[in-house]
Amino acid sequence: MINRFLLPAGYLPFIAPLSIFKYYEELRRKTGAVGFEYFYMVDQNPDIINSSPIGGKIFGIHGPWTQAGSYYKFIFHPKVAFNLEKSAEKTLRFAKTVGAKYVVFHSIDIKNNFIQKLIALAKTLKLKIYLEPDMGDNTFALAKKFKLPVVFDPATVEWNGENLFAEWEKAAPFVAHVHLNEYQPKLKKDQGILKSKRYGELIKKIKASGYQGFFTFEVSPLQSRWDFVVAGLFLLASYSGLADLFPIIRKWYAGISQKNLAQSINFAKLALEGVAFKNAGEKLC
Ligand SMILES: [Zn+2]
Repeated sequence: MINRFLLPAGYLPFIAPLSIFKYYEELRRKTGAVGFEYFYMVDQNPDIINSSPIGGKIFGIHGPWTQAGSYYKFIFHPKVAFNLEKSAEKTLRFAKTVGAKYVVFHSIDIKNNFIQKLIALAKTLKLKIYLEPDMGDNTFALAKKFKLPVVFDPATVEWNGENLFAEWEKAAPFVAHVHLNEYQPKLKKDQGILKSKRYGELIKKIKASGYQGFFTFEVSPLQSRWDFVVAGLFLLASYSGLADLFPIIRKWYAGISQKNLAQSINFAKLALEGVAFKNAGEKLC
């Protein structure tokens, strides 16, 4: 099997200092993933990333998803977060500087009045733009109108109450990239560890369709209510500087990310290699 696995980087753990990158690289080596899809928080310095352990290994950039949820509004510099055009343009220029080949934009961050300009800039910079659906939006209309490929994210599909297989059939002709993660019904959020049989079946179906793109594992450390407590403590420690005084705090949190990602990657490997696996997850559909 050709290795087409990418790991998320940049937002796991979300406000960690850039020194956390060594954990991403450690995980990449352990899991055998080929590179990263980097979650760009507007105004980060690309030079720091280029000189970090993940420098030169970034295949794609995930746009900032500025309009979805108060969490992002809290984290982003408000001036940039509320100027979509400027933020999208900065994302493309950042992508170019770190050597990425594609940029994922959630369609909520792309507006008709500047999309044409953005496509022109991407062409000049030799970057591809992929559109990722949000909750109940117009991604496919935009994709058709501007001839942009899309990202298939099964967790978003289930979050929208849609069927994985029917949506894959619909999206397949337009798909350039796949985000692998599960919908977590108990938490009503995405980025769950891959474990349920239907996700395994879906991965097999994607393979059988002849899909040749990459898979990014969008799996976060947040898998239970307890994980939110841990994340809260981590945030507090990072803001107060305690995480710098006690690096063990950072290592602990990074360890959770690593464990969840490794489990999901193993699951996907088994599905792609056609080996039988157990249904460890709950039924949703
Ligand atoms: Zn996604």
